[in-house]
Amino acid sequence: MKVQLSNELNAMLSEHAQADYPNECCGLLVGSIQSDIVKITEVHPSKNLTSGNPAKSFEVDPKLRFDVMREAQSRNDGVDIIGHYHSHPDGPAAPSAKDLSMAYEPNMVWLICRVAPNEEVTIGAFQPCSDRSAFNTLELVIN
Ligand SMILES: [Zn+2]
Repeated sequence: MKVQLSNELNAMLSEHAQADYPNECCGLLVGSIQSDIVKITEVHPSKNLTSGNPAKSFEVDPKLRFDVMREAQSRNDGVDIIGHYHSHPDGPAAPSAKDLSMAYEPNMVWLICRVAPNEEVTIGAFQPCSDRSAFNTLELVIN
């Protein structure tokens, strides 16, 4: 599966990751899935509502998720929440063991941003395997 992200939305993700550094940022991804291509059309930044250490964990605001879902469904154009993103301050653009333990939804696309000082943000795309034992790495196309 291939994930398409525009330069503009890529810049939004990078800016959010840098603005919230050294804490993790997070948000929702809205888009459409056609055959094996996921096209991300909207990024909705969330507050990080984790009850743990925000430098090492994240939780998307459930109210934002509800609002975005309701808005997407009211448009009824096949565009819906297809995933979410979060950052790893000074960590890799790859899922952690904790991320795997939180991967309840097998169809969600995860974008994970590595953010560190004096460095461009790098992003990886992943999707939990159907048995949630691991993440598959997806091809991410930014253009
Ligand atoms: Zn993570």
